[in-house]
Amino acid sequence: PSSITADPLVGAIDQGTSSTRFLVFNARTAEVVSQHQVEIRQRFPKEGWVEEDPKEILQSVYDCMERTCEKLTQLGTDISNIKGKCTHAHVSVNISIGVSNQRETTVVWDKETGEPLYNAIVWLDLRTQSTVEKLIEKTPDKNKNYLKDKTGLPISTYFSAVKLRWLIDNVEEVADAVHTGCAVFGTVDTWLIWCLTGGKNGGVHCTDVTNASRTMLFNIHTMEWDLELCKYFDIPHQILPEVRSSSEIYGYMKGGSLAGVPISGCLGDQSAALVGQMCFKDGQTKNTYGTGCFMIQNTGVKPVMSDHGLLTTIAYKLGKDKPAYYALEGSVAIAGAAVRWLKDNLGIIKSSSDIEKLATAAGTSYGCYFVPAFSGLYAPYWEPSARGIICGLTQFTNKSHLAFAALEAVCFQTREVLDAMNQDSGVPLTKLQVDGGMTANKLLMQLQADILCIPVVRPTMSETTALGAAVAAGLAEGVCVWALHPHGLTSVTAEKYQPQINKEGENLQRQ
Ligand code: ADP
Repeated sequence: PSSITADPLVGAIDQGTSSTRFLVFNARTAEVVSQHQVEIRQRFPKEGWVEEDPKEILQSVYDCMERTCEKLTQLGTDISNIKGKCTHAHVSVNISIGVSNQRETTVVWDKETGEPLYNAIVWLDLRTQSTVEKLIEKTPDKNKNYLKDKTGLPISTYFSAVKLRWLIDNVEEVADAVHTGCAVFGTVDTWLIWCLTGGKNGGVHCTDVTNASRTMLFNIHTMEWDLELCKYFDIPHQILPEVRSSSEIYGYMKGGSLAGVPISGCLGDQSAALVGQMCFKDGQTKNTYGTGCFMIQNTGVKPVMSDHGLLTTIAYKLGKDKPAYYALEGSVAIAGAAVRWLKDNLGIIKSSSDIEKLATAAGTSYGCYFVPAFSGLYAPYWEPSARGIICGLTQFTNKSHLAFAALEAVCFQTREVLDAMNQDSGVPLTKLQVDGGMTANKLLMQLQADILCIPVVRPTMSETTALGAAVAAGLAEGVCVWALHPHGLTSVTAEKYQPQINKEGENLQRQ
């Protein structure tokens, strides 16, 4: 595109569970100008354990950034020119970077050496199940919602506090470094921002409110780390990062092609997708289909507590002096991960996208049901001891039926979460905005519309998570005032999947 040198650019790191992406958007049109993606290796050292290497995550970010910059150069954009050029009054820079990241995943590192002290414990990891059971056992009435008033969350293996507790209790290096004051904790955003802004040579140790709200150590009303919660989990609060808004300059890139560029946006991936889908109004809802599935409803500036197993979480706070917006969230642990399991563990498909053809060949699950509760069940049950099942098998069942059942499983789980959300809000949703890697699957989208009985709407530009991070980065004070203004982007084109069956299961197309 010829316009790219003239328009401001905003970069976005999208560090997901399965892969890392770096995208550069034209800040005026929200078009993707250049991007690169790298898969992340997941390690399963024991049953129920899921780890990733923090250095591999960091390297993947650097690799994606460098490759994206090379592609920009090939398109005729000299990145060093863009960085230095200041064409508008009051504008200090015209490229900035936003971070969106897999949430809850826990990293502890040594701030003197810059070295991680253990692998990142991924949000899906179940090693803390017995710790969680003990914690719940100790609460009055054995109540998993004991900390919900402050945190919006049930006590679960999902959130960072229990993972951090496990690291201090079980990894000698972590315990020693905590003791000597060298250890610092972070979710993936914190790890990345610290490293990218200089690491052991002055890196900024911070997180944003959305990521903080997933640790179980953060009070979502006072918007601060909560000393009582730290005491409850026995976490020294000095190791926690400073909590900032989701849109402000945290620091500047050190090294690489983008050295000197400010990092000015930070949102947990699901919050980023909400922003990227422009769900700024009360009641607006999106569902993201990636490794897991996450439905998030904007509930405005007041937290709403769920009576139906949903989480209350911080949606975004787009500026230091801006209010925090809250959300209700229905998290499903396993969605795309079930497809990856069919690929990696059963070998019935070669790539994730092959599932569509295989499932379409059957056109039905033929009575086969797949409950992929590999990591327990999240919303609305919060049952860590649940495990996956495949049932309803006959001699006739084949891999196509199983593939179909896997896609249906994602849709049924989403249906349960949507029902919970409708019950909580009292206003049934009339359409669902969707995004995420799995939404490339048209069969899944149609099944979802049928199973929900409402239209499912997918933006043509499906990189909404990255777009959300870019929006946050572009809006930050001191960056491009004219960058990616959300209200200018409301008319994004979308594909709409209409339900083809009604609530009674009748085929509407035949009527
Ligand atoms: P994350 O943000 O969690 O890293 P992505 O949004 O990148 O996830 O989506 C990747 C997930 O989606 C993987 O688990 C993969 O198995 C699944 N996936 C990708 N493409 C398809 C497809 N066409 N059909 C079904 N599942 C898919």
